[in-house]
Amino acid sequence: MIQCNADGKRDNAVFLFTNIEYEVEAKEKLTFMALNDALTRIPNMRTFSTDVAEMLRTYPKEEFLMISIDIGQFRLVNKLFRYSEGDNVLKYFATKLQEIIESYDKGIYCRMASDIFYACISEKENVEEFLSVLQTGMKNYPLKFELKLYFGIFKITDRMEPVEYMVEHSSYARLEAKKNPLQNIAYYNDELKKKEFFEAVVVSEMEQALQEGQFEVYYQPKCNSLTKQIIGAEALIRWNNPEKGYLSPGIFIPIFEQNGFVTEVDYYVCTQVCKKIREWMDHGVTPVPVSINISRCDLYDKELLSRIMSTVDEYQVPHNLIEFEITESAFILESNLLVSFTKALRKEGFCVLIDDFGSGYSSLNSLKNIDVDVLKIDIAFLPVSTGEKKSPIIMEAVINMAQKLGLDTVAEGVETVEQLELLEKLGCYKIQGYYFYKPMAVTDFEKLLRK
Ligand code: C2E
Ligand code: CA
Ligand code: CA
Repeated sequence: MIQCNADGKRDNAVFLFTNIEYEVEAKEKLTFMALNDALTRIPNMRTFSTDVAEMLRTYPKEEFLMISIDIGQFRLVNKLFRYSEGDNVLKYFATKLQEIIESYDKGIYCRMASDIFYACISEKENVEEFLSVLQTGMKNYPLKFELKLYFGIFKITDRMEPVEYMVEHSSYARLEAKKNPLQNIAYYNDELKKKEFFEAVVVSEMEQALQEGQFEVYYQPKCNSLTKQIIGAEALIRWNNPEKGYLSPGIFIPIFEQNGFVTEVDYYVCTQVCKKIREWMDHGVTPVPVSINISRCDLYDKELLSRIMSTVDEYQVPHNLIEFEITESAFILESNLLVSFTKALRKEGFCVLIDDFGSGYSSLNSLKNIDVDVLKIDIAFLPVSTGEKKSPIIMEAVINMAQKLGLDTVAEGVETVEQLELLEKLGCYKIQGYYFYKPMAVTDFEKLLRK
């Protein structure tokens, strides 16, 4: 509002003052926004880092703990209720965190992003109590289900280490806590340190490894148990690391899934397989269909599908020779993305398999919404030992259901003649497993094909 003096003219002195007042207020607001989190109004990560470094300098003799906190099932709050309810949960938790830390004579806290918070407190405080006050606070939040907190705790040993690294160590411990359903607290220890270091090395080497061709595609034949003929193969990746030797995908694929690199690897496998099939066709070797594993992370890559299609066509590989295995867990977690992904593949004449069927996620319901061609059942998920009565009944039901739904079945992980005989009795003749062949280098697989 512009103020005027008695003769109706603008009073410049008042105007100037109001303007300065407004500017000061705006500046204060901007400073507050730069240092704090807009939603919860507690410090942000930038302020946290500076303040932790300052606290460590001020109290050189005192031991401190870096604690990373995650509100479990937070995504569910946003999904089931409104986003405003999610905001309320975050504000509520921030207040609890602020209250407890401000009751200590020192301690720093912040919200990093989403539902991730950090605290740095003195080891003199009662840590168990700290965690339990926060957890009880969350339990009291009025929701239909209980919100469980996950904590990762890192004892600061090297004060020269950047605060960002301390934060990373505590986050690493928190992720470990989340992996184990029986606990919600994990301490960063020597074992985790080794694991974190190993993962950091893997991540730092992965791109060069891909460029240098250190990843090798192995092939595990799929056989018809009646004719004993090879009717297909699965492409399985190995990392021939110059220092560590052969690394199995079980070690590095989960790491690549965390940083998205898995999509590059899967595309690489696809390219290698297409190249090989072309080569076989050009040299008079009758090819068999080869299946490629698709990680659920791949579904987020909008370009992948078109890259796959153009590669297959570049090598002029008939579409019936390429198949895609998508793990069962993706059918639950990414069902919307999957519907369009599988539809697009099948429209182009590619065969789609549900991998690891029966591995624990109930995918029966998803079969209703997603069209696939083959159920791949891992016999390891349903141990069939002699004398065991229930597993064969479940296996029979799954195979019958697949047949009624017009789906083909492949059994993998078949190691013994008893398992083979049972599968044959139940009408499943497509077999992959050590009973016939282990995964092998491409040159060995070629020899088998030539035979
Ligand atoms: P998967 O897709 O379920 O592959 C089957 C795994 O079972 C392979 O392990 C295979 O070697 C193993 N296997 C086959 N037959 C038998 C058997 O009779 N007994 C036993 N005990 N094991 C058997 P591998 O090659 O170590 O691969 C492990 C997992 O890594 C795969 O499980 C898959 O999830 C992932 N993976 C492998 N290659 C790729 C890839 O190129 N891309 C992606 N995204 N994932 C891959
Ligand atoms: Ca597979
Ligand atoms: Ca499998």
